[in-house]
Amino acid sequence: MKNVVVTGASRGIGRAIAIELGKRGYRVLVNYNKSREKAEGIRKIIGEAVPMKADVSKYEEVGKMIGDFCEKYGKIYALILNAGIYIRKNVEEMSLEDWKNTIDINLSGAFYPVKAALPCMEEGGRIVFISSQLAFKGSKSSVAYGASKAGVLGLMRSLAIQLAPKIRVNSISPGTIDTDIIKNYTPEQREKRAREIPLGRIGRPEDVAGAVAFLLSKEADYITGANIDVNGGLYIH
Ligand code: NAD
Repeated sequence: MKNVVVTGASRGIGRAIAIELGKRGYRVLVNYNKSREKAEGIRKIIGEAVPMKADVSKYEEVGKMIGDFCEKYGKIYALILNAGIYIRKNVEEMSLEDWKNTIDINLSGAFYPVKAALPCMEEGGRIVFISSQLAFKGSKSSVAYGASKAGVLGLMRSLAIQLAPKIRVNSISPGTIDTDIIKNYTPEQREKRAREIPLGRIGRPEDVAGAVAFLLSKEADYITGANIDVNGGLYIH
């Protein structure tokens, strides 16, 4: 059985990824920071789920989680770097602490699991970063988020070169996906957004999970250093 790690997997996109990969026969390290019950709940849906706590912005916690998992279950096939936060503040509003938190979680928190897991990764392994369309187009409502997600793309590209041919490294950039991140949208805002999207609807976490499953499949064997947009055509570039 192949082992995969999904960070920030207790809810939203990470949860959907964990469930999809579990259904496809992977053993999934379901990383969470706070919501132990929710992470445990995934065990009831897929048998081979291993909930493990770590704050991805703290290297010691990430290193311990990966080390313990690897010692117990063996080599890791894939890392899915999904954990992230979105602080909706522009340059004037954003405190230095908000900025640092965003970079620590979204960018360093994507790098730390890679650094910790590399010695334990399988030949032919996969790394998938979850970036965002805002990495490409910028955002009027958040100054740190787009910067952190553009950083993730830069990290993905360098790792794709450095880790070839042992490990394939790619990213997915979601558009608007129906999770807690957009929970403050009013019904009118949701409708307006759906109308703006060429495919006519807001994305589902499962839409992202399907793309992750593809990047882990044999069919994606010749793909590295690539980004897949999962945005319903909202931002085409
Ligand atoms: P979400 O808020 O539901 O999920 C984020 C997950 O990250 C949660 O499980 C949370 O607990 C976890 N997390 C946050 N800080 C953490 C930390 N320090 N350590 C470990 N885990 C931590 O949002 P989501 O929409 O499911 O987001 C998942 C990823 O997709 C994020 O990286 C987000 O930036 C990205 N994304 C989301 C959208 C969207 O529209 N929903 C669009 C583009 C990109």
